[in-house]
Amino acid sequence: MSKRDYYEVLGVGKQATAEEIKKAYRKKAIQYHPDKNPGDEAAEEKFKEATEAYEVLSDEQKRQTYDRFGHEGVNANGAGFGNGFGAGGFGGFEDIFDIFGSFGGGFNTGYGRSGPRKGKDIRVNLRIGFEEAVFGVSKTIKITRNEKCSDCGGSGAAKGSGRKTCTVCGGSGHVKNLQQTPFGTIQNVRTCDVCHGEGSIVETPCPTCHGTGFERKSKSLTINIPAGVDDDTVLPLRGEGEAGERNGEPGDVYIFISVKPHEYYTREGKDIFLEMPITFAQAALGAEIAVPTLYGKVKLKIAAGTQSGQKFRLKGKGVASLRGFGKGDMYVTVKVEVPKNLNAKQKEALEAFAEVTGEEAHSEGKKFWEKVSK
Ligand SMILES: [Zn+2]
Ligand SMILES: [Zn+2]
Repeated sequence: MSKRDYYEVLGVGKQATAEEIKKAYRKKAIQYHPDKNPGDEAAEEKFKEATEAYEVLSDEQKRQTYDRFGHEGVNANGAGFGNGFGAGGFGGFEDIFDIFGSFGGGFNTGYGRSGPRKGKDIRVNLRIGFEEAVFGVSKTIKITRNEKCSDCGGSGAAKGSGRKTCTVCGGSGHVKNLQQTPFGTIQNVRTCDVCHGEGSIVETPCPTCHGTGFERKSKSLTINIPAGVDDDTVLPLRGEGEAGERNGEPGDVYIFISVKPHEYYTREGKDIFLEMPITFAQAALGAEIAVPTLYGKVKLKIAAGTQSGQKFRLKGKGVASLRGFGKGDMYVTVKVEVPKNLNAKQKEALEAFAEVTGEEAHSEGKKFWEKVSK
């Protein structure tokens, strides 16, 4: 049976120190951990292989035996490798927890006794009006969340009842199971299903929450949405999420804002855009027009000879900054409207106008024909 050398598996030399071995295993374990590679059998095999190598090389005595006799040495006593680190044989599991623990969470959730855990966050989608986003608004939302049971205070135990050691895991909070593989027996550890890693269970469950420690409750929250929010603004409400487990702090509520489009304004950040129709006469002769802004009507002077599509800026008529400094502007794009359905008198006037208007009055048209004729 060809079995890879343990040092080779961990990628360390024969003279590696305990610390180097630990470091090397940690790297492999993080890379090939089943939680990180769900359904990947090759990764799982590599994880087991590395774990097996670590279990031998991290134990001074086993390492010496392995160095002298190789795989035969550590697998020699009876029914394969399993005996080498079965119940009590390998005292190093706390060591493995250390390795995952120092990685900073993520992997350690499935092992060992669980401490307080922060409650889950709740996402709320909230659609508000265009003007509400610009000026701010107060809204009341309703959420349903887990709260600490009012009857037992979250302990899950009925009044006068305590906790007892979990018989399934013997109080450790995790269950070891042995798996037969061609290389011997591999030990897996998972969180105890019965006590969920706590190591103890309540003697008599609280009748209100059936031992969970939580009650499902509806809650109304009033949120003051500040002026200047926009599509995709997220407002956090700290501590308003699901209750934490084992006295952990509650999660948060995140309000995801979306803004309804406006009938005639559009918005880009702090700036507001408006397309406004003006008459041909206003454009040609110049005029003072009234522009509807978010802050009421504002007069805008249009110079004689204004072209369709020309843009005018109204300073400070945009949206206030969410962070409190400055306001955006408003941009008005004028669109010259060509009159339709003229009556006889209007047609006559326009024909007379066309007759007296020479090329000089239409410089753009003149330039165009000059280019074309070249
Ligand atoms: Zn309760
Ligand atoms: Zn248990």
